[in-house]
Amino acid sequence: MVTLRLTNTRTRRKEDFRPIDPADVRMYVCGPTVYDRAHLGNARPVVVFDVLYRLLRHVYGPEHVTYVRNFTDVDDKINAEALRRQKAGAPGTLEALIHQRTEETIAWYHADMDALGALRPSIKGVVSEKAAPRATDFVAQMITMIDGLIDKGHAYAANGHVLFRVRSYQDYGKLSGRSVDDMIAGARVEVAPFKEDPMDFVLWKPSSGEEPGWDSPWGKGRPGWHIECSAMAHELLGESFDIHGGGLDLQFPHHENEIAQSACAHPHGDFARVWLHNEMLQVEGKKMSKSLGNFFTVRDLLDQGIPGEVIRYVFLMTHYRSPMDWTAEKRVVATTKLEDYLALGERFADLEKARQTEPAPEVIDALADDLNTHLAITELDKLLGNARWNELVATLNFLGLIPFKGFEERRAKLTRSAAELTGVTERLAALRTAAMASKDFSAVDALKSALIAAGVEVQMSKDGVELVPGPDFDPAKLEALK
Ligand SMILES: [Zn+2]
Repeated sequence: MVTLRLTNTRTRRKEDFRPIDPADVRMYVCGPTVYDRAHLGNARPVVVFDVLYRLLRHVYGPEHVTYVRNFTDVDDKINAEALRRQKAGAPGTLEALIHQRTEETIAWYHADMDALGALRPSIKGVVSEKAAPRATDFVAQMITMIDGLIDKGHAYAANGHVLFRVRSYQDYGKLSGRSVDDMIAGARVEVAPFKEDPMDFVLWKPSSGEEPGWDSPWGKGRPGWHIECSAMAHELLGESFDIHGGGLDLQFPHHENEIAQSACAHPHGDFARVWLHNEMLQVEGKKMSKSLGNFFTVRDLLDQGIPGEVIRYVFLMTHYRSPMDWTAEKRVVATTKLEDYLALGERFADLEKARQTEPAPEVIDALADDLNTHLAITELDKLLGNARWNELVATLNFLGLIPFKGFEERRAKLTRSAAELTGVTERLAALRTAAMASKDFSAVDALKSALIAAGVEVQMSKDGVELVPGPDFDPAKLEALK
């Protein structure tokens, strides 16, 4: 069995990965707060951890891997958007508008990430809503966890809030390698008169009439963001699980806080053993921001006609621990590569056999070495160079770049096109024979122009006529010729 090596943020070392239970390898990745479309930076962890998920499924078997990625569906930004809509005249209660907003955003998110070839999270290979939990479905578990933290002296209620007592947890800051005092100096900590210490963070906060709220021992309120992940991970993956992932921007404070809560609530568990963080995304060398005018969503790119697999390929060009740059130049490279792989794979591979073929071992080895996606996609060119067509197709499917059905659809389209063209080929040949006798080529030229306009390459030689459908071939345009 292939041994994975992963760089664990916690130890700052590349380590052999040994799952707690190889029959149920468990991974948690922090998901989005669902108030708007995912921007391109949001998609990077999705693709990075999708590659890891695919690799784990390959090594341990799909039914032995559990991957949970949550939706944060309670948040001030969601409330603000719902309130804005209500003020703009949208019908319905605020609660209904919040629900509408989160549901529509979740549907967008799924559609956008599907387009990037990311597999949906699953419990032991079974895709379900449970593997993509909504925070609001786990408020009871959050309340129980907060209650336990108060009992153990790690949290306190004050002024309708419950706060985590950071100095009660000795290892706070270990993940990111900072001391509490450094963090106070560097962080934007919210000073509030009811806090014992400025570092203490919110587990629960009161809700006003305009905000969604749940009854709790501390009054009507809602959970803080960090406790959501701790409670959902515990409920769905247990006290100890294998991998916790997320973007580097979540390392502090979000992941430090998750660890503190979970370690204090369940002192016998390990929470997550391996922590992985992906670096951030830039656009043409600059941080993506609305003020620089270089901010765009995944949907913006898809709507511009950039296929999801091209976006995915560009992501894979950079190792997850390096900052990645989205550039027009890379997009062009990705487009050309994928077009070549699709055309050549369709032409030379035995698609039936490719489905039974394992992905290339060089690619698996590259990924097993701390997800070296850059090397993995370089290996694709070698497969092509060595005419390992079935492996090329199997590997492109495995990497989520071109699914098997992509090759099959292309083949079916070409076969259909060829059938469509048979009759026209005969007609053109007959017109040509007649024209050679009459020396009037106008009918031949007219048909030829119409074919070219329909995206067909016309080859005429003394041996006869051949029509080759080009990539833009549109059979509908032939209808007029019939
Ligand atoms: Zn989280």
